[in-house]
Amino acid sequence: MDAPTGLDFTPAVGDHAFTPKQRALLALAHRLGRDKFAARAAQWDEEASFPFANYDDLRAAGLLGICVPEAEGGLGADYATYMMVGAEIGRFCGATALTWNMHVSSTMWTGVLAAGIPMTETQRAEHEARRKLHFRRVVQEGAIYAQPFSEGSAAAAGKAPFGTTARKVEGGWLVNGRKIFASLSGAADYYGVLCTEDKGDEKPDARDTLYLAVPATSAGFSISGDWNPLGMRGTVSRNLLFKDVFVSDDEQLMPRGVYFKGAQTWPAMFFTLAPTYLGLANAAYDFTVSYLRAEVPGEPPVKRRMYPTKQIAVAQMRIQLEQMRAIFLRAVLEARPNPSKDERLRLYAAQYTVMEGANDIARLAIRTCGGQSMMKHLPLERIYRDSRCGSLMLPWTAELVLDRMGRETLYEPGEKDE
Ligand SMILES: Cc1cc2nc3c(=O)[nH]c(=O)nc-3n(C[C@H](O)[C@H](O)[C@H](O)COP(=O)(O)OP(=O)(O)OC[C@H]3O[C@@H](n4cnc5c(N)ncnc54)[C@H](O)[C@@H]3O)c2cc1C
Repeated sequence: MDAPTGLDFTPAVGDHAFTPKQRALLALAHRLGRDKFAARAAQWDEEASFPFANYDDLRAAGLLGICVPEAEGGLGADYATYMMVGAEIGRFCGATALTWNMHVSSTMWTGVLAAGIPMTETQRAEHEARRKLHFRRVVQEGAIYAQPFSEGSAAAAGKAPFGTTARKVEGGWLVNGRKIFASLSGAADYYGVLCTEDKGDEKPDARDTLYLAVPATSAGFSISGDWNPLGMRGTVSRNLLFKDVFVSDDEQLMPRGVYFKGAQTWPAMFFTLAPTYLGLANAAYDFTVSYLRAEVPGEPPVKRRMYPTKQIAVAQMRIQLEQMRAIFLRAVLEARPNPSKDERLRLYAAQYTVMEGANDIARLAIRTCGGQSMMKHLPLERIYRDSRCGSLMLPWTAELVLDRMGRETLYEPGEKDE
């Protein structure tokens, strides 16, 4: 028993004085991951197929509603709790953790994060009434929500309005456009689409971003394209096409104009892709320790731990993992609306550290364990490929994080050069 945590394992986020809810959810995620998800991960990767069996388990455990408030029948996890649990899932199956994040985010943004987004009284009342429908679908019907934002333009990086549009019509919206990289395509019941309200003006404006749930059964909605990527193959992130898709007013996940304010108020909403990759970093480290100790089930009992170079490599991996855990935990515990400049810069640093670090630890793991460790029947080569994807994910790719950090350090808001 690990004294400070009260758990019989060290969570992917490290040890910490967890709350009873965090402890219970971490134990649940660890058990599911270790006993169910780990053994299935190779199948989704091999087939590039969606982890439906894992979603059945997540649903049965109530984890589809992890961030749905308790008053609405969910588990009522806050931001930090979700981030800790996400890392634990990522330790056993990257594609499950990443897609689960897309689903959970749609309930977290509309739930616990929405409380910190400025809204008028009318907007708040509208929001609280509308989100009940989405929460009910998740909790009672086990519905899955996807989060397709990317379009292959500058929009997902936050630098331009979304090209997908929604025009107000009687009783709802008419959606037109295209999304790429839509994880959970074909598996989701609803697609939480970011689009720009078409007001008939010449110049679309990002302040008019709408967040709408498009039912998978909608007329005019279709999925296309191949899916055969390097890593995160179980996410099945294909293209979506919306051709005059009618969605009713009830499908609005946020009132008009509120998403834009939310993105400005709550930068930590974009950090939710990181737990998956912290989980993968732990997986690479866990594997290396077992492999060098000759404790990987089914492998020949050849110990490799006696070589000083291996010991040094493991020490380096542990140092990097501790750095990732420390900055991750600090960032998730201090996440709040309108963070200070230091908190915001630390959040970017945490994103960069986890996304780049996960692949670096996986690279070191392969180098240290050696050639036999990268065979397909072992998880390490999959972890290596999956971990490569983290720093490519918009809006906070490794490049864009460096870009933001440098600019926001050297320029105060509104400052310009001559
Ligand atoms: C496994 C996986 C699952 C995904 N799932 C989803 C999902 O569910 N929903 C979703 O919306 N998206 C998803 N994405 C997409 C992801 O968030 C990015 O949109 C995608 O990786 C961008 O690829 P791209 O080639 O279009 O990037 P490009 O836009 O071509 O950009 C290439 C690189 O240039 C840099 N760059 C981009 N814009 C700028 C700029 N304005 N200024 C400076 N540099 C810039 C970035 O570093 C970027 O990585 C997923 C991606 C992966 C890998």
